[in-house]
Amino acid sequence: MTAPDPAPDRLETDVLVVGGGFAGLSCAIRLARASEGKLSVILLEKASRIGGHLLSGAVLRPAALDRLLTPEERTAFPLGPTVATDHFHALFPGFSIRLPFVPPKMRMKGLPMLDVGAAARALAGVATSLGVEIVTAQAADSLLWDGDRVAGVASAGDEIGAACTVLAEGPAGPLAAELLRRRPEMAAPNAQSYSLGIKEVVEVPPAPDKVGQVLHTFGWPLPWSLYGGGFCYRTAPDRIALGLAVALDSADPRFDPHALFRRWKRHPLLRRALAGGKTVAYGARLIPEGGYWSLPTRTAPGVRLAGDNAGLVDAMELKGLHLAIESGIEAADSILRERGLPVPADALPPGAPLPSLDGLRRTKNYRAAFRGGLPIGMAMAGLAWITRGLLPPGRISQRDERHSLRPLKAPLPPAAPAPDAGPLDLGIDSDLYLSNLTYRESDSPHIAIPDPAPCRGCLEKYGAPCTRFCPAAVYELSPSDSSSPIRIRAENCLQCRTCTLKCPSDAIRWTPPPHGNGPDFRGL
Ligand SMILES: Cc1cc2nc3c(=O)[nH]c(=O)nc-3n(C[C@H](O)[C@H](O)[C@H](O)COP(=O)(O)OP(=O)(O)OC[C@H]3O[C@@H](n4cnc5c(N)ncnc54)[C@H](O)[C@@H]3O)c2cc1C
Ligand code: SF4
Ligand code: SF4
Repeated sequence: MTAPDPAPDRLETDVLVVGGGFAGLSCAIRLARASEGKLSVILLEKASRIGGHLLSGAVLRPAALDRLLTPEERTAFPLGPTVATDHFHALFPGFSIRLPFVPPKMRMKGLPMLDVGAAARALAGVATSLGVEIVTAQAADSLLWDGDRVAGVASAGDEIGAACTVLAEGPAGPLAAELLRRRPEMAAPNAQSYSLGIKEVVEVPPAPDKVGQVLHTFGWPLPWSLYGGGFCYRTAPDRIALGLAVALDSADPRFDPHALFRRWKRHPLLRRALAGGKTVAYGARLIPEGGYWSLPTRTAPGVRLAGDNAGLVDAMELKGLHLAIESGIEAADSILRERGLPVPADALPPGAPLPSLDGLRRTKNYRAAFRGGLPIGMAMAGLAWITRGLLPPGRISQRDERHSLRPLKAPLPPAAPAPDAGPLDLGIDSDLYLSNLTYRESDSPHIAIPDPAPCRGCLEKYGAPCTRFCPAAVYELSPSDSSSPIRIRAENCLQCRTCTLKCPSDAIRWTPPPHGNGPDFRGL
């Protein structure tokens, strides 16, 4: 006879925040400051340190910080150089054309750059000084329910009960998905759609006069049918942050974001910018970009949604940090009201739109319009901006990334990892080394394919797309294994969650790893 499982330990708090990114930390700071110790606030972060799982561009629209921080905290906040020049380039094979103007939403001149990890650690310092209890290396696994009310989370076998739980898990959070499954009335009219952003930091020969240069690209190597684009920011005399975002609704089963990123870096425009450089950091993360029609309701009994978890990214300008702060503040203010506590003087009236939501409203159909390809999407985006969102009218539905694939016309040759081609063009294994991955062997793997039966059909029909769309080569063909055609190298996982969206059979089960396992992004 086996002994019954011990009853889980249970901790109680007034507010539990899940996720130590800009949204979660902003919420915690606002709550702790305004409640003056009357509310207990616990924040859980799955990374071993705040910022370890954060990746962004990043250029910040900083106005929201003024609502969050005191003047002293604002002065001490680690902002980088401001954008000095910004250019927009169309890329073609072997050459590029610089547009004579930068589209209004893409103009960044005068805005500050930042290292999102360092900035989050500064916010965590403020939160801690105000009495917030931050627990790192602690993933929330699932929601606790009291009837239809969220009552906290389960985490590492224990329970944390909370009068209100704030979900700020970032894009495609499993807890937010659980919430929307149980409360479908919260869902937005359109499903959320995502891009995968792959980013590197490159150390280059120092050039102080180039600090603050910003370059955006569209076109090659992406086909015109695929939404996406690149960025290249000179963040310090000897540092360049560069990234490529590619939409996950690609219909091509050969879709390989890491290979596209490496090709993009070989374009002459990028080669010139990166000359003499060496890659020092690598990571990948999702970007929710459905926009206005994909925004779920952010409030339900016992729970609030904030930041990317609520789809709050302005895809047209690739910015979400300011919306993460604003929605964190919004969540905090609504909790203060619910608890009968005074709200700060600058609190928005209940139900009022976020200050920066106007950009999303004005480009309601922006992302969905790209279903017709890049030229049509760009024309529609311009039209929407000029007519303040009146055109195109109505709601264009989005394409679902899981069901967007068309079958392969001919069998694919087995995927071979592209070799390491020097300090700027690393193969996947060398790239992953720069993500500082740690997974404890004693922990059970956080990725599984419980029923591999669909994989055989998928291999034939789509050539096992997981062996290409994962930016960390976690999925490999395993021809010698009779039980499953796919081998999982969970120890490579960057925790971007692409596989939870793109597997055509929804065969992959991914859970947030415990004990701070995963990457430790530095400077990303
Ligand atoms: C390539 C790229 C470039 C970008 N460029 C810009 C830019 O230039 N400007 C801009 O404003 N925005 C930019 N963005 C968007 C911006 O980074 C996001 O909108 C913003 O970081 C969202 O913050 P968040 O707090 O909602 O989520 P996140 O920053 O993702 O934070 C979520 C946190 O929750 C933690 N977490 C998740 N699940 C759990 C769990 N179960 N338990 C405990 N902890 C958990 C994660 O580890 C993470 O630390 C960019 C994004 C990408 C990917
Ligand atoms: S895990 Fe999904 S994508 Fe990979 S082979 Fe199986 S069904 Fe296909
Ligand atoms: S296994 Fe999934 S979550 Fe992990 S890196 Fe690959 S696609 Fe991202």
